[in-house]
Amino acid sequence: MKQKETLWNIRPVNGLTVDEIGDEHIGTSHETPLREDAFDLDDELKIELIQKHFKEIMQILGLDLTDDSLKGTPERVAKMYVKEIFSGLNPRNKPNIKLFENKYNYKQMLVEKDITIYSNCEHHFVPIIGKVHVAYISSGKVIGLSKINRIVQYYAKRPQVQERLTVQIGNEMKSLLQTEDVAVIIDAEHLCVSSRGVEDTSSSTVTSFYSGKFEQQETKNEFLTYTYSR
Ligand SMILES: [Zn+2]
Repeated sequence: MKQKETLWNIRPVNGLTVDEIGDEHIGTSHETPLREDAFDLDDELKIELIQKHFKEIMQILGLDLTDDSLKGTPERVAKMYVKEIFSGLNPRNKPNIKLFENKYNYKQMLVEKDITIYSNCEHHFVPIIGKVHVAYISSGKVIGLSKINRIVQYYAKRPQVQERLTVQIGNEMKSLLQTEDVAVIIDAEHLCVSSRGVEDTSSSTVTSFYSGKFEQQETKNEFLTYTYSR
C-alpha cells in the first residue's frame, strides 16, 4: 500500500513545489483567490461537507471520534468556518454601510485605532491576532464609527495574508467614502510564526497602506502620532 501521499508536492505553485516554498508566505493578488463557483453551494451544504472531511482528518490523525469530548468537533469546526471565522468570504456578509453628509464640516483626519482583529493565515490556517488603525479624511461623506470596525472584521474573517488584508481594508475605505485620503496600519502576531515553525513569540508584523494626503510626510506623521502615542 502506498503510504506517502505526494499529490501536493507534484503541483507547482509559482513554479515551486510546496516543499520548496516551505514556510515562505507567498501573496498573489489583492483579491482573495476565490473560484467562480465559490458560492454555488449554500452554507448548509458547505457545513455538511466540511464536517465530513474534518471528521476524516481527525480519523487519519488517529483520534477516537466515539469519545464524548471529540464527537461534536467536526460539526463545531464546520459551523465555525462557514458562519464565523471565514464568513467574510461570502459577499452576502459584507456590511451594509450608509454614508452621511459631513454636516460638521470636519476637515481633519479621523482615526479609529486599536481595532482588534482575529484573522487566519491562509498558508497554515492558524490565527493572526492584532490591532488595526484606520484613518480617513472626508471628501464630503462620513460613516458611523462602528462601521469602520465592521469593514475591518469582514475582511479579517477570511483566510488571509496580512499584506492583502491591509490593502483590502484601504481600498474598501477609499471606494466607500469616495476619498483618496485613507491610511491603514496593521500590527499583528502570526501564530504560524509564534506557536510553530521558528517559534518566535515576541515578533510582530507591521503593514501599512497610505493613499492620497497620507502619502505626504506631515499627514502620515500626524496619523502615526495619534496611533502610537499613549
Ligand atoms: Zn502562516
